[in-house]
Amino acid sequence: MSFERLTAAKLWLVSDPPSGAGPAGDAEVPRALPYLAHALFALVPVSCSEVRALAVDEHWRLYVNPDWLVATEVPEIARELAHETWHLLQEHAARARDMHVDSSTSEQWTQAADATVAATLGVDQLRPASLPEAGDLELPADRSAEEYYAMLSRLPPPSPDGSPAEQPGAGCGSGCDGLPREHELPPDADVGAVDPDDAQQIRRRVAVDYRSHVTSRGTEPGDALRWANQLLEPRIAWEPLLSGAVRRAVGWVNGRTDYTYTRPSRRQGSSPNVVLPGMRRPLPSVAMVVDTSGSVDDRLLGRAMGEVDGALRSLGIRGEGVTVLSCDAAVHTVARVRRARDAQLGGGGGTDMRVGLAAAGELRPRPDLVVVFTDGYTPWPDTPPTGAAVVAAILGRERGELPPSPRWATRVECLLDF
Ligand SMILES: [Zn+2]
Repeated sequence: MSFERLTAAKLWLVSDPPSGAGPAGDAEVPRALPYLAHALFALVPVSCSEVRALAVDEHWRLYVNPDWLVATEVPEIARELAHETWHLLQEHAARARDMHVDSSTSEQWTQAADATVAATLGVDQLRPASLPEAGDLELPADRSAEEYYAMLSRLPPPSPDGSPAEQPGAGCGSGCDGLPREHELPPDADVGAVDPDDAQQIRRRVAVDYRSHVTSRGTEPGDALRWANQLLEPRIAWEPLLSGAVRRAVGWVNGRTDYTYTRPSRRQGSSPNVVLPGMRRPLPSVAMVVDTSGSVDDRLLGRAMGEVDGALRSLGIRGEGVTVLSCDAAVHTVARVRRARDAQLGGGGGTDMRVGLAAAGELRPRPDLVVVFTDGYTPWPDTPPTGAAVVAAILGRERGELPPSPRWATRVECLLDF
């Protein structure tokens, strides 16, 4: 089949609107998305009657329904084309895997990813008719796909009686949710493909062009600009900062314990480096206070808790030594867990970490180290729990916008990297 109309749609997208164009008529809307050119012309079109309109796989094959193609106006083809291309640019497939999206949740993930694409294209008045906006789904504006997915996943499932489908719905293809479809070609099919390195080159190129597009347009920053900035300005890795802060705090606690319990020993006085039998250094007890109010990003929280887990395990602290308190405006669960990520987290309301820190202070044995995970939009107590070192992991989406934390806590800013 001929992909002429597809080529026409690509050219329509990247060229300037005719001069003097008014708001009347489909073909007259502002467009000129030259930043998309590198991505659009890398796509490998494949004719496929099993998709509704267009869909993509992770190898940049664009599956095109031939009937739809001939029946649809070029501007609408162009909008759908831009929509699918953004899934590939923003690596929605890999991000879906990170979120453990499967065939039972792919619809929610696709909605979440589509809501971010709708916002990006909406600014240029190029949102396809098929794509709902965040507002249509009763979601707040300008969030990441992961945040939308977390919000949509908390809603009751769309069909409570149905068992998970074996095949995910056609949707936008594996290029959006990472789940291969039966009609998709294998990675090495001879139609061609964009390999991961080339794809990354294309993304960088588009990100550079997109930033200048947004700057010249002068509109509000959104999810796509966040994507471009994070691709071009690699973030400072916060993970080592967080685990380092935890290890230092434990070291400090251990040092203090040594000082308190070993100094009076007269026998040890002449040979301070000898550890006497029966004087094993007690492992510090640790409490984690987790902000489970709705504003905290689930994925970021999981990663930050995983990082602290790892640091504690490397110090030999595990199992019974760790208590997790989940807290929004009240404390919901207190659990002793083998690993922090095993904790059942409750909550979802407003935020008051004073309540969580007070509860941590009431624990027996008293915690030596308290790690607080929060987005920071919370009141704090005037003083830390008695005798505890406090590490505050502030979970945020953008640098420079995070609320303050008290001076008595070691602050580590943990930022979502897309
Ligand atoms: Zn989509």
